[in-house]
Amino acid sequence: METADSRKVFKAGEFIIKQGDPGDSAYIIEEGKVEIRYTDSEGRTRVLGTRGANAMIGEMAIIDNAPRTATIVALEDSKLLEITKDDFSRRLEHADSVLKMATQVILTRYRDTLTRAEIWGERYQWPPAEMVELGYAETTDAVQTITIANEFRDALLSKFVQLYYQPIISLSSGEITGFEALMRWNHPKKGFISPAIFIPVAEESGLIIEASKWALREACLALKRIEAAVKPKDKLYMSVNFSSADFSSDDFIGSVYNTISETDVAAEQVHLEITERVLIQQPDRAKETLRMCRKAGMGIAIDDFGTGYSSLSYLHYFPIDTLKIDQSFVRDMHKNEHSLALVNSIVTLGKNMRMITVAEGVEAKEEAHKLREMGCELAQGYLFAKPMSEADLIERLKLWAPVRF
Ligand code: C2E
Ligand code: CA
Ligand code: CA
Repeated sequence: METADSRKVFKAGEFIIKQGDPGDSAYIIEEGKVEIRYTDSEGRTRVLGTRGANAMIGEMAIIDNAPRTATIVALEDSKLLEITKDDFSRRLEHADSVLKMATQVILTRYRDTLTRAEIWGERYQWPPAEMVELGYAETTDAVQTITIANEFRDALLSKFVQLYYQPIISLSSGEITGFEALMRWNHPKKGFISPAIFIPVAEESGLIIEASKWALREACLALKRIEAAVKPKDKLYMSVNFSSADFSSDDFIGSVYNTISETDVAAEQVHLEITERVLIQQPDRAKETLRMCRKAGMGIAIDDFGTGYSSLSYLHYFPIDTLKIDQSFVRDMHKNEHSLALVNSIVTLGKNMRMITVAEGVEAKEEAHKLREMGCELAQGYLFAKPMSEADLIERLKLWAPVRF
């Protein structure tokens, strides 16, 4: 190995890092190619992968003093830029505070992921098949999260993110009372990405605030267009999902008010869907915010009701008017008497508290039947309609006939 400033040159075949050795620097490969090898507790050595120009190796050393977790050998003569732990700490000290925090969180999580994978590997096979398939670095939660967050930010701006709308039906009349707006991300290469993947990433990265603002505005505008196209006899409502981060943002209430007045929908036509988590995490703030929303006329629904915190006292504390029964209970109703009892209890609770109950995920006629018998007012599910684009929804509404069951 030759050294010049912070650059190091390794000849083909030379070891750069040895598994088990202490380490206090990471490297960026400027030129050349290296191989990463891992030896398990039984002495079997496997090749984890190769890395070329611009890749970073040995990065664990810049977060802790733990021994090297793998061996890295130069496959070709390679030129590496060294980043010592001290150098890294110094750079971090001067970084913007958000960047600093994010870096620390990500690196710590990265270490946790690797540790988990190592424990797993000792017992089974190292590396797990999916890690090999995706490439070592790309499999970490942190790298994936950053990739998704970056792509999602661009998608929001370039309109690859859309809203779909799922009708919410009155169980007594079979007529539509409103819609739930659900986000869809149509990725140009990967196709539709589930909200179950991108919403948590958007929440973690703070992008959800921008996304929710966009969604509320878009949903309100869509409601106006839908009303203009199908001229319903009764006013319909639009239910929009919000996350904890939305409630923490200082201008939440102002932004909601603005959107409602600018899009010219009646506040009564806007329902906010939140989970119990939002209420529990910041009760005082949530109470005040919800009070102002209710005062203005908006509806407040608790989403996934029954899956969160067990205390019911909060129902009394917050100005809530709708309970959405989680689909896992509805789905199980006909084969699991506990689920049936639970749904029944929620409907009764709703009635006693003068709240509306909405059953989610209704797929079978028998479920709809049972729910109606129990006195559940509203339902949403594939039995009636799947979430659909605005254009499809308008076509569907023009031909809508009350659902018989
Ligand atoms: P959620 O709010 O509980 O939304 C209901 C989910 O159930 C939707 O999944 C919907 O497509 C699905 N669903 C409705 N009826 C049926 C049915 O009969 N059977 C089955 N199997 N599923 C049904 P989706 O659209 O994939 O959304 C998943 C979750 O992502 C949502 O759950 C919500 O938590 C979150 N999400 C979606 N859009 C937004 C958004 O704009 N903002 C926020 N904060 N979260 C969103
Ligand atoms: Ca929802
Ligand atoms: Ca739900």
